Formats: sequence, C-alpha cells, structure tokens
Amino acid sequence: MNPPAFAAAPVRLSGLRLPRFTWNQETLLLAASLWFTLACNGSFWDAVLQGRNPASPGTWRFLAGTGLLITALHFILAALPACRRSLKPLLALLLALAAATGFYMHKFGIYVDPDMVRNVLRTDPAEARELLTPDLLWHLLLYLGLPLLFLSRVELLPRRPGPALLRRGLSLLAALLLGAGGLALASQDLAALMRNHKEVRYLITPGNVVYSLARTWSRDARASPAARQVIAPDATLGGTWAGRRKPVLFVLVLGETARAANWGTHPGPDGRLRDTAPETTARNVIRFTDVRSCGTSTEVSLPCMFSLQGRRHYDEAAIRNSESLLHVLARAGFRVVWRDNQAGCKGVCAGLEQQRPEPRPELCDGERCLDEILLDGLPRLAADHQGNLVLVLHQLGNHGPAYHKRYPESFRRFGPGCDTADLSQCSQERIINSYDNALLYTDHFLARTIDLLKAQEDRYDTALLYVSDHGESLGENGLYLHGIPYAIAPREQTQVPMLLWLSPGFSRSASLDAGCLRQAAAGPASHDHLFHSILGLLDVQTRDRDTQLDLTAPCRS
Ligand SMILES: [Zn+2]
Repeated sequence: MNPPAFAAAPVRLSGLRLPRFTWNQETLLLAASLWFTLACNGSFWDAVLQGRNPASPGTWRFLAGTGLLITALHFILAALPACRRSLKPLLALLLALAAATGFYMHKFGIYVDPDMVRNVLRTDPAEARELLTPDLLWHLLLYLGLPLLFLSRVELLPRRPGPALLRRGLSLLAALLLGAGGLALASQDLAALMRNHKEVRYLITPGNVVYSLARTWSRDARASPAARQVIAPDATLGGTWAGRRKPVLFVLVLGETARAANWGTHPGPDGRLRDTAPETTARNVIRFTDVRSCGTSTEVSLPCMFSLQGRRHYDEAAIRNSESLLHVLARAGFRVVWRDNQAGCKGVCAGLEQQRPEPRPELCDGERCLDEILLDGLPRLAADHQGNLVLVLHQLGNHGPAYHKRYPESFRRFGPGCDTADLSQCSQERIINSYDNALLYTDHFLARTIDLLKAQEDRYDTALLYVSDHGESLGENGLYLHGIPYAIAPREQTQVPMLLWLSPGFSRSASLDAGCLRQAAAGPASHDHLFHSILGLLDVQTRDRDTQLDLTAPCRS
C-alpha cells in the first residue's frame, strides 16, 4: 500500500511553511508544563491573586514560587507514565483536558473536584450537547488547536533505553527540587491560602482533572453495590395503621436545580414582584421556607437526601454502599416505584421498580421530555394497585443551562428570555426570566400531580412532598450553574424549595395537625430531615428513626 501523499511533505497553511523541531522528551515535557501554568490556569491565578497588591514584591515572590510549583507538578505528572511512544498522545490528552476545563471553569466559575468529575462522567448525551456552545469551539481552536499543531511539528530524538531512563530520572529529580524551591518561596502565602481557601487547588488544571478522576475511580472500585449495608432492618408499620380504612398513595417529587430564592413571590430582575408558584399556592400547600440541600450537585445531593447519614455524617462511600430510605419503605411493605425524567436514581432505587415513561411528541423533542410526561398513566397505576404505594417522580425541573427548553411555549410568561444554552449570549435578566418560567412550569406540574391525587381520594389517603436537590447560580458573583464545593457554596446553590400537600384523609389517618405543620415550616430544615420525616409521615417505625429529625413529630397527636 502506498503511504499517504502528504506524509513526507512539510505542513503548509495557506502557503505558510511551518518549521519542524527536533527535541528530546524532557524539553517537550517542560514546554507543555509551562503552557499549562501560563495559558490554561486563568481561573486559578484570578482566585489566588484576588485582593493582592500587584506592585508588592511579596506578590511577585508568591507568583514565582506558585508558578514554579505548578509547573514542576505537571512535569512530574506527565513524565512519570510517559515513554517515547506514549508521550505525544499523553500530552495531547492533557492539553485537551486543560483546554476544556479551563473554558468551563472560567465561564461558569466551577471547580473541578471529584464530585464535579462524577457529575461529568454521569452526564448523558442530551445534557452534554447543551453544554457544547459556539464559544467553546473558539476557545478550543486557540487553546487546543495551536498547541496540538505545535506538538505535531515536534520530532522526538531517539535514545537508547539506558540513557533515556537516566535522563528521565535526573529530570524528575530536578523537577522535584524546583518544585520544593517554589514551595519554599511561596510557603507562607500558600499555607494561608490552603487554610482559608483550600478549594482553589481544584482550579489547577489539568492536575485537578487527573486527581479527581483517580479519586473517583478508586472510590468506585471500593464500592460494592451488590452488598449494600442494610439499614433499619426492623422497619414496620406503626400504631396509626391499625385503625386505617384506606391505603396510602404518597408521591415524592424530586426537583432539579430549583432554588428557594426564586420560588413563589419574589422581586424579578425588573424590580417588580413576580410569582413563580401561583398554582401550588392556590392548592394550599405547606411551604418550608428555610431548607438547606445536602450538596450542590445531583451526584452528591440525591444519594445523600435518601440516606441515613445525611450531611451531618456525610461519607460518600458509606452512603453509596448503604440501602436508602426507599429500601426501608419497601421493607415496611410499601410498593415503591421510581419514575424518571432525568439521569436515573444514582443507586437509591437499586433493585426496586423503575419506570421511564414512553416519550410522545406533544411533550418530547427527541432528546428530552417536559416533566408532565411523568404523569402519563398515573391514574392507571393507582387504579391497578392494591395497598400502599410510594411514587418518586424525578423531574428534569430547571436543569441548565438550557432553561428555555424546560417549559412549553404557554409558560413563556416572564420575558424576554434567554433562548440559548450559551448563557454568555444573554443578560442576567434574560437568564433569570427563563429560569423563572421553568419554575412556573414545575409549579404547574406539581399542581397537576396534586389534582391527580385528589381524584384518588376515594381509594387512597394521598399526600405529596416536593423538594429540590440543590439550587443554582444565575450570574451572582460571576457564578453560573451549580457544583461549587459545599464548604464555599453560595446560598443560591444550597437553599431549596420544599412543599408538602396532605389530603384531609391523610392528615386524619396519620393524626397530623396541618396547622401545626404550617407553623413548623417556617423553621430551619435540611435534606437531613427527609429520611426521618418521611418515615414519620408514613408512620414507619424503626430504631433508626430519629424523632429529633422528623419535622412532623411535634405535629402528631
Ligand atoms: Zn441536580
């Protein structure tokens, strides 16, 4: 077979003859490491230089020391696994990671920590497509295209294995010494930085991606979902069940990316009051006004809110390896059904009944469906079942950045909106308008669900609990979307709406005083209350139920 014609020809770009470089591996490694430090870490430098005097010699010493340290770390990271054959593909991969993460860190103010990497790894194709915007293309052209073009022009010097190994060893030693020198130079400021703003290390790219991937994979390798830790093995129906005439139909709506600040009546970006929850308010729901989420991402919050540990004893591995609240309810005799319009239940419904409603064109665009799809066939499901039923409806909710795709045309009430997933194309006002329209649609979806439950009252005692998994930043302090490390997360990402609706029959059967609950709803609450409050609402007894964390306990007679 003939080799391709262009193989030996020098690369030409519109007549431009590009030079070729013959380098040894260590020179190329050094050039790449310097590129990472100088070109790819804008978010890191912005964060660590905040509030520093650019003219002070201390700032320059700190810059030089930190720059040296980061360059040395990336040199070691790439030099350790690379050989002559693998070096260029490895650098190409690191360049791609650095270019892409640099773009999203700068654009949305995100940090790339293990939780964020887990979010990215679990992203479905529709979600990923919404994040691929034209400005990413320009960024990649500059920050990936140019270095790749350069990489393609570098020819590596051949070397015999013995001297190559010696040279690599010596270069690693030099990098270690230089890194230590950098650390010594910046140690005082770095120590203070790591004490007060430890999270900035998740802005050092591409090291942050490699580290977070390694952490995520090692955690997953240790996880053994086949043998989940059993919790509440003694779960059984409590005393109120003896005198009940009807079974319970309890719907838990798991919201997505709804933040408390924009729920209900609040000032819009135009300064005028607007209401994003008129339909549920008209149905007299009990609104919990001060609810804190367990995490700032679905990957953290969802498993956590169904767990016994919660945020107060947060341990990701323990939570992933344990049964969830849903397994406890199933053990107590409830039929538990998880209906999903999003990316699955993250293990909390493992082994339980799962349904994904059939897409239909009125509600679906070929990629995603509006949340009302979750109600398809619901009356049928209720009619065909005998006994207690717990239904979890997992919404797509306010999933960003394409907020404008989360509601039908008839819910375009606040305008003008942001009709693109590329938030940089829209003013904050437009982004908030679309976000609020999506909340308005969730409000409608919840109201329809309540109406469906009302229609079941002759057969069931019905109730609905709605809670969002985390909030969202909509441009406050330059932040967008969510997923900021929990310790430094702004309120917008951690305060979530929570609503409770009880049919009169449900309140009566469970001996609950709705007026008392309405008063209790003004107090502080969190995802940590969910596990125990749902056991309380459904009167499931177990030694693992903590009445201190049961929001309904003070309101039960
Ligand atoms: Zn989420």
